[in-house]
Amino acid sequence: MTPGEVQALLTRQAQQLDDLEHTVADLRATGNPPPGPAEGQAVPFLYGSLPEFVEAVVAPLYAKHGTSGGGWCASWWAHEEARVRLGAIWRAWETLRLDPSIGIARWLRDVADPQMDRLRDPDQGPFTACGDRHLLPDPLPLQQPPAESPG
Ligand SMILES: [Zn+2]
Repeated sequence: MTPGEVQALLTRQAQQLDDLEHTVADLRATGNPPPGPAEGQAVPFLYGSLPEFVEAVVAPLYAKHGTSGGGWCASWWAHEEARVRLGAIWRAWETLRLDPSIGIARWLRDVADPQMDRLRDPDQGPFTACGDRHLLPDPLPLQQPPAESPG
């Protein structure tokens, strides 16, 4: 992680801490939680795109140790499986972050860790062929299904 990335992460965390302090101040002042969104109204996502979420949350959290390749690809967005799994991780994070008590613990246990373990699996993960250079795995082989017989 570069000094600039560390600074960006610290800035985001400082903003989240500031938001939490405002929530605590609201709770102390009124005894009630701050008003949430109206029923049926979706809470806006904190991150505006999957790449933004991956850069801010996934990359620092699952930082690699050592310099050997495998387990990750800097061009993750080019891997269909990675886009699907990381998108699922992001959507779950956006929902579970709203539970301040156990949401992130549940996200780690039920979503992020299992999905990241699958993505980073050195034998079966989509990044297996990627090391110093990006290589897409071959898709599953397919045969055309037989034409359906009439009637
Ligand atoms: Zn790759």
